Amino acid sequence: MSISTQVTRLKNYIGGQWLESSSGQQEAVVNPATEEVLAYVPISNRADLEQAVAAAKEAFQVWGKTPVPKRARTLFKYQQLLHDHWEELARLITVENGKSYEEAYGEVQRGIECVEFAAGAPSLMMGKQLPDIATNIESGMYRYPIGVVGGITPFNFPMMVPCWMFPLAIACGNTFVMKPSERTPLLAMRLAELFAEAGLPAGVLNIVHGAHDVVNGLLEHPDVRAISFVGSQPVAEYVYKTAAAHGKRVQALGGAKNHSIVMPDADLGQAVQQIVNAAFGSAGERCMAASVVVAVGDVAENLIDQLKKAADGLSIGNGLEQGIFLGPVIRESHKQRTVKYIETGEAEGAVLVRDGRKDTAYEDKGYFVGPTLFDRVTAEMSIWKDEIFAPVLSIARVETLAEAVELSNQSPFANGACIYTKNGSHVRYFRENIEAGMLGVNLGVPAPMAFFPFSGWKNSFYGDLHANGQDGVEFFTRKKMITARW
Ligand code: NAD
Repeated sequence: MSISTQVTRLKNYIGGQWLESSSGQQEAVVNPATEEVLAYVPISNRADLEQAVAAAKEAFQVWGKTPVPKRARTLFKYQQLLHDHWEELARLITVENGKSYEEAYGEVQRGIECVEFAAGAPSLMMGKQLPDIATNIESGMYRYPIGVVGGITPFNFPMMVPCWMFPLAIACGNTFVMKPSERTPLLAMRLAELFAEAGLPAGVLNIVHGAHDVVNGLLEHPDVRAISFVGSQPVAEYVYKTAAAHGKRVQALGGAKNHSIVMPDADLGQAVQQIVNAAFGSAGERCMAASVVVAVGDVAENLIDQLKKAADGLSIGNGLEQGIFLGPVIRESHKQRTVKYIETGEAEGAVLVRDGRKDTAYEDKGYFVGPTLFDRVTAEMSIWKDEIFAPVLSIARVETLAEAVELSNQSPFANGACIYTKNGSHVRYFRENIEAGMLGVNLGVPAPMAFFPFSGWKNSFYGDLHANGQDGVEFFTRKKMITARW
C-alpha cells in the first residue's frame, strides 16, 4: 500500500498533487469488521472543489486533443497495473467495505473489465459518413469529448462503480473530478495513483473527498459539463434534477428492490444457491441483490425450507479470513436501521423464518447482521416497499406467474429481476411483461459486463444514457455533423 493511503488524514488529488483540504472538517473511515479507524477523510469545501475543476479544465485543453490511440495506450498500461495490484486492491476493498475477499477479488475484475472496454476508444469513438447525401454533397458525424465530467460514487463498490465512470470518460478525451463515498475513500486514491503511474497527465483525473458540499459544487459548477452519479434513490433523483437544472447531462443510478420469481418447475438446488448468493453476498449491499423472492404455486414450502438450511450454513465474519461468506454491513447506523426493519417486518405480520439478529458466531466487534428470512411478505409492508440494503430477504407467495410479474411491477424500483424455471414460455412471458432493465434466467446477479449498458428502469435510474457500453460512449461524447459540397 502506498504512502498516501497510509497516512491518517487523507488528501485530495488535484492537478497531480496530493493536497490537504482547506475545510478543516473530517470523518473517520472505519473497517466495518473490526471498527478500527483506518484513516480520516476530509469533508472538503467548495474552495477545494473549485481548485479541482480548474485543474481539470486546464488539463482538458491538452488531453481533449491528445490523439485517441495515445490516450488508449495509457489505458492499456493502466489495465496492466491494475492486474499487477489485483490482490492489494481486493484486500483494500475488503478492509474498507467489509465484503469477503473473494467478492472483492471479483469486484477488481469487474473494474479491470471497464478499463479494457475503455481502451477500445479508437473504435468506440468512430463517427459515420455518407459520401452522397445529394449530388456532390457529403455528410459525416464526428465525436468529441465534452469537457470536465463529475463523478459521485457509493460505498458498496469502491472499485467497480468509479471504474464505470472515469476510465471511459477519460479514454473519450474528457477530464474528471471524482467524489468517492466518504465511507470508502481509500480504493479511489489507489485507482488515481496507479493511473498516474500508467502515465496519465496531471489534472486529467482529480479526487475531492467529502459529502454534500462537494456534490452540490459539482452539480452547480458552470465548467462541469456532465454528472455521472451512483447511489441511493432519493439522492439520485436530487442529483438528476439539480444537475439538469444547471444545464448538465446526467446519468443517475439509484436504489433497487429486485424480485426473484421461482416457478414450480425450477431446479430448486440451483435456484437456492443462486438466491442465497444474490441475497446475502456482500451483506445484501448490492444494487443487484435479490431482496424479494416470489414463490409461485406449491414451490413455497420446499423452497423456504432449503433457503433456511442454506442460510444457516453461511459463515459470518471478517471478510479477510478464509472461507467467510458474509461480512458486516457498512456502519453501526446501517446495522441499527436493518434491525429496525426486522422489528417492523414482525410488527407488520410477516413470518420471521430466520432471525439474523441472533447470529453470534463472530467477535464482539463489527457491524454484523446474519442472514434474515421473512415469509408471507405482502406489498403493503414496508419490508417489501423499501430498499433495506442488508442481508434481509423477503418471500412473497403467489399462485401464478402473471401474479408474480404483477407484484414485481408494483415496485417503483426496477433495476433487475430474475426467474428460475426450465420452461421457455415462462421465460418469454417474464421477459415480455416484467418492468425491469436487467433480467436473469436461472442466475442470481444479472449485472451486465462493461461492454453492455447497466440498464435500470423507473426509480432505479434517472437519465437517458446508461452507464457503460455504447451508452457510456454516447454519454461522454458530443457530435459534430459536417455537410460539405465539393
Ligand atoms: P448514498 O446515496 O448515501 O451516497 C452516494 C453518494 O452520494 C456518496 O458519494 C455520498 O457522499 C453522496 N450523498 C449522499 N447523500 C447526499 C445528499 N443528501 N446530497 C448530496 N450528496 C449526497 O448511497 P450509498 O449508501 O453510498 O450507496 C448505496 C446505494 O447506492 C443503494 O441505494 C444502492 O442500491 C445504490 N447503488 C445503485 C447502483 C446502480 O447501479 N443502480 C449501484 C451501486 C449502488
